[in-house]
Amino acid sequence: MSESRNVSTINPFDMALEQLDEAAKLVNLDKGLHQVLAHPKRVLVVSIPIKMDNGEIQVFTGFRSQHNDARGPYKGGIRYHPQVTIDEVKALSMWMTWKCAIADIPYGGGKGGIICDPKRMSEGELERMTRRYAYGIADIIGPRTDIPAPDVYTGGKEMAWIMDTYSALKGNYGQPEIITGKPLQIGGSLGRAEATGRGLSFTVREAANRLKVNMHTATVAVQGFGNAGQYAAQLLEEQGAKVIAVSDSRGGVYNKNGIQVGALRKHKETKGSVIGFAESKSIGDSDVLETDCTILIPAALENQITRKNASKISAKIVAEAANGPTTTEADDILYKNKILVIPDVLANGGGVTVSYFEWLQNLRREYWSENQVNDKLDKNITRAFSDVYSTHEKYQVNMRKASTLLAVNRVVEAIKIRGLWP
Ligand code: GLU
Repeated sequence: MSESRNVSTINPFDMALEQLDEAAKLVNLDKGLHQVLAHPKRVLVVSIPIKMDNGEIQVFTGFRSQHNDARGPYKGGIRYHPQVTIDEVKALSMWMTWKCAIADIPYGGGKGGIICDPKRMSEGELERMTRRYAYGIADIIGPRTDIPAPDVYTGGKEMAWIMDTYSALKGNYGQPEIITGKPLQIGGSLGRAEATGRGLSFTVREAANRLKVNMHTATVAVQGFGNAGQYAAQLLEEQGAKVIAVSDSRGGVYNKNGIQVGALRKHKETKGSVIGFAESKSIGDSDVLETDCTILIPAALENQITRKNASKISAKIVAEAANGPTTTEADDILYKNKILVIPDVLANGGGVTVSYFEWLQNLRREYWSENQVNDKLDKNITRAFSDVYSTHEKYQVNMRKASTLLAVNRVVEAIKIRGLWP
């Protein structure tokens, strides 16, 4: 991690509970049902002993939190990061419940994580850790119970190892529907890699329409240049916007005349970071947030926009590619300053939506074309955006409160119809 990125002490689960409390108040939620939603249904902690390359045994800790399954199987990614905590994973699993409800796909919310520093591990160590974690959670996941996916610092490679380990443990045949975000060769979906960024670009398009922002004169700043940040930047560039500032965990680059996203991606691929990109001036990772721009995309980690820097943000639209990048206090400041925040549970919902398409293809042993995937994604996200936008207008609350409120209503309806048993 760079020194410049905010490492906040705000507990993400407290933040998620605060958001739930606010939504509960707005919809007059029954106290008991509020309690149901405040607790994940199950949180599993596993210790993961593996042999490191130097022959020593190291024990990692991993989690899988299953928040709610009233609307369908638990669904959500697995992240590898030194700052993973049980509370972070619990918060992220609650946000997945809301995200799937807003996207209106038949899933509940789950999330997993391992406390580790994947950048300092060899390929062999990563594979052994991933397989041992898959073994540890194998009894609580399943194609119809809990379907994991990639998240921060995990991708197709890890998904393939998990699918293989799970399939071997459960009967030695390939079960692609156990996990999404897989490589194409083993049942991945066309369009899944770009899905989070693509979905985000659709939500920005919708927001720009509502706010009468012209994408051809709009400028974009992106904090975090991983999977979501890279595709979001590229797709907004395709909509006509000019990307002027980009950062990753090591630092940032700025050019007021525009940065070519394709060239920057190549640079990052070869150099491992955006820093040193030609014809740009170097800036700090957190400076990117305060860049004078039209559209700001936090695409890194939680708690980046806080009460300390929220009033310095000048963008018209903030579209959250990361999960939980804005604190509750910062949300209020941005709302007061008339900045439209497209919250994570809406803005980055394209990832899990295409995961759903991947899962459907796997269950039916079908393959859809990329156009089919992208068109369906567009329709789904556009509808989700308009549901949230009209809720935000109706209740006169920010888009995050509107999202949580909408999601809580949908989940509570499912809980009520199903009833409690035993
Ligand atoms: N990790 C992604 C998210 O936070 C994707 C989850 C999924 O595809 O299940 O939305």
